[in-house]
Amino acid sequence: CGIVGYVGAEDAADFLVDGLRRLEYRGYDSAGVAIFGEQGIAVTRSVGRIQALADRLGTPPPGTLGLGHTRWATHGPATEENAHPHLGGDGEVVLVHNGVIENYQVLKDGLIEKGYEFKSLTDSEVIAHLVAEGLKNTPDIDGQPHARYVTAVQWAIAQLRGTYGLAIVFRDKPGFMIAARFGSPLVIGVGRGEYFVASDASPIAGRTDRIVYMADHQLAVLTADGFSVLHRDSGKVRVNIQPLEADS
Ligand code: GLU
Repeated sequence: CGIVGYVGAEDAADFLVDGLRRLEYRGYDSAGVAIFGEQGIAVTRSVGRIQALADRLGTPPPGTLGLGHTRWATHGPATEENAHPHLGGDGEVVLVHNGVIENYQVLKDGLIEKGYEFKSLTDSEVIAHLVAEGLKNTPDIDGQPHARYVTAVQWAIAQLRGTYGLAIVFRDKPGFMIAARFGSPLVIGVGRGEYFVASDASPIAGRTDRIVYMADHQLAVLTADGFSVLHRDSGKVRVNIQPLEADS
């Protein structure tokens, strides 16, 4: 239902929790965040209000990369196990997903056959394991530090039928995020040395006044040093940065 993501120099938790609160108006049944700090990726999820998630977080772990989600369940009941973020593989992929994957059952059957263990009843977890499988089958390319991750995500989403807004981080890739969109809105807030991802502009207002509206079939690669937008299966696209009105 709602997505937030942060990469930059500040603690991610502040934007993530505040951003999820600003997305509450869309309705949701559960929520969660993943915060990537020195100790690795800490995932916290909760059924119910954002306040319940904030209470559970307490003093959030430090970390300058993170993502968050408010879930409106479509596949699997509103439980903590089904709340996002979901992990793929042995936890090397962490993602949040908006939308519905229509062919998730056939993809899930194939992944179970390959040995992947599912912890939730969601369609979304399929994407996390698919990306992990993509990583397994993609070698690192010398001098292109992002290529393997981009290729794995492209390979995974090419198999999806349905709609998705995605924000993905990788256990072995600190300070790095991929966002992808088809049929479910996603925007990028362009700050100075920091970037915000969200399913609409409301979490970003007041943080930066520059915004990029991602289009279907686009993929964004973000680090604290910059971002680029690619077409799902061709090269880089020209980015149109638009002004964001303060009161939007
Ligand atoms: N289909 C996913 C699920 O049931 C995502 C729902 C959403 O967009 O919140 O978890």
